[in-house]
Amino acid sequence: MRVLIVEDDPVLADVLVRILQREKHTVTHETNGLLADALLEKHQYELVILDMGLPDMEGGEILGRLRQRNDKVPVLILTARDRVEDRVQGLDRGADDYLIKPFDLLELEARIRALLRRGQSAVSAQLQVGDLSLDTIGHRAFLNGEPVELSARELSVLEILMLRVGRVVSKELLSEQMSALGDDMSINAIEVYVHRLRKKIEEGNVSVRTLRGLGYLLEKT
Ligand code: CA
Repeated sequence: MRVLIVEDDPVLADVLVRILQREKHTVTHETNGLLADALLEKHQYELVILDMGLPDMEGGEILGRLRQRNDKVPVLILTARDRVEDRVQGLDRGADDYLIKPFDLLELEARIRALLRRGQSAVSAQLQVGDLSLDTIGHRAFLNGEPVELSARELSVLEILMLRVGRVVSKELLSEQMSALGDDMSINAIEVYVHRLRKKIEEGNVSVRTLRGLGYLLEKT
């Protein structure tokens, strides 16, 4: 699996890289916060190990930006023992787990295994209809390979419609599915999100048709 290690301590980074490579993971190592942020914007990883104190951009900010993009990749943060606020901030910003330096390597390996398992149990699928693709793990949509900026709710609506491509999806079903995902949404709200979604993907060859009284139909045009 693809793992990104963001750590500016060369000795620790070296240990992390070796442990993960031994487990046959594809490891990318970055020491600089800004560059790590750029990597995360462009590439998809199955796990990120993130130090909090980094040059040019702090780990907390990288994490905040990652979650703002709706990227749900598991993140393990590394913090110093005397930096309690780092830990709190990291967890608040969406870290999945943390380790306090110095840590036991066996513990590190156990945490990594647990996070990778958690990531794998997510439904693994890349949905594709015409020019439009949706990465249901990374929670990102692409039109002709270019990222489309969608909110979390717009992404959920899109996923539900793409899973039923060519079939009519009623507003009631959409509303039910959204509640199942833990997001209660009224029928009126559904209309708003479908409207926004339609605008954002209108340049491609996929459309969301409204069938009066029936619901929506996503199809290739
Ligand atoms: Ca550091």
